[in-house]
Amino acid sequence: MNKAISVDQLAIHGGDPTVKRTFPWPIFDDQDVQAVADVVRSGQWGNPDCGDAVATFEQQFADYCGSKYAVSCVNGSVSLRLALIACGVRPGDEVIVPPYTFIATASVVLEVNCVPVFVDIDPDTYNIDPQKIEAAITERTRAIIPVHFAGLSCDMNAILAIAQKHNMRVIEDAAHAHGAEYKGKKLGSIGDAGSFSFQSSKNLTSGEGGIVVTNNESLYQMMNSLRNVGRLPDGQWYDHFNPGCNYRVTQLQAVLLSEQLKRLDEQTRIRNENGLYLDQLLADIEGVTSLSRGDVALRHCYHLYIVKYDKTKFGYIPKKEFVSMLAAEGVPCSAGYPHPLYKQPLFQQKNWQCYAIPDSVAYTQVNCPEAERACADEAVWIFQQAMLGTRNDMESFAEAIRKIRRAMLNVVESGS
Ligand SMILES: *Cc1c(COP(=O)(O)O)cnc(C)c1O
Repeated sequence: MNKAISVDQLAIHGGDPTVKRTFPWPIFDDQDVQAVADVVRSGQWGNPDCGDAVATFEQQFADYCGSKYAVSCVNGSVSLRLALIACGVRPGDEVIVPPYTFIATASVVLEVNCVPVFVDIDPDTYNIDPQKIEAAITERTRAIIPVHFAGLSCDMNAILAIAQKHNMRVIEDAAHAHGAEYKGKKLGSIGDAGSFSFQSSKNLTSGEGGIVVTNNESLYQMMNSLRNVGRLPDGQWYDHFNPGCNYRVTQLQAVLLSEQLKRLDEQTRIRNENGLYLDQLLADIEGVTSLSRGDVALRHCYHLYIVKYDKTKFGYIPKKEFVSMLAAEGVPCSAGYPHPLYKQPLFQQKNWQCYAIPDSVAYTQVNCPEAERACADEAVWIFQQAMLGTRNDMESFAEAIRKIRRAMLNVVESGS
């Protein structure tokens, strides 16, 4: 049996932390530095007026994903926005999104004068629940943005079938999902378009940046024009055809991404294997559960390793306190989103003055109980850089959870 431990032994109260190392991110070496330094020395920092580093990286990333085209841009919000506009959404159209995701998934919908419609998540995967999608479809629904949350693939066969039946476009939000796969296909390459972020926390990063991949030539041409102030490839510099902006990345970002991309596949393999191992380790600890990887062939890239926490098995300490204890033990983690997106002031207060959202749209009545529970009580996020550790590190994460549980149960049992 586990030996009892006192609360004083927890790192949060000054005890020895379980995890003895830190987990750096981003990871780089002299080759990354050299690549960026070469661009600096060349003086060719911009795009598209000089150099071809941006086009080179776009081709590399498209090839990596198994997609025909890629359009890079300033971030993973703009990439979603470019895809929505290119898909032909009109003001007042509805776009289905999950409520358990980063704000950008839904706010970009408002930014194209469309209405985000929230469909709850599946509690076993934290991805949008395909069984609940059809009930949310109206004659105004034009698109769906499935988010491969944490790097775990959505049920794409089910989503594609529903989209086909209802003539909806599918824009994958793969901001967490670089290198992850569903049935042998890279996430992002499955729907009409797939959007990625290169913001500093993401599994492939240049500090900021984004990209959208597609196999559809007309979508590609429109997105390519939109991110380049509406220019056309054969047009003149001061001829503008589409209502875009300057959303271009620099050559400095592009060469850094080309260097970073060389590491992605091996890093993804390591995270995936560590995730499988951590699943096994947590299966032996009461009160914590892993999300389900389902029964299809997939490769998870663990942008986050999500632990489902059950406070009733931890002496009823609230999730937030558990996360503080776990972080003090040295596990890089957080409690994640405090609320589902529709609870944000943006939606509750309808703070979209400059957008033409129909007056009838209201979010105060929206309720997605699974997303509510994930936010309030259940979801604990372990960050991707921690998933690049060793098997020993995974064991120490499990040990940290076990240690907290022992201390908490001891408090309950001794009534102190
Ligand atoms: C990070 C993120 C984005 C947006 O990316 P930025 O590069 O920060 O604009 C979109 N969707 C999800 C799910 C994200 O996590």
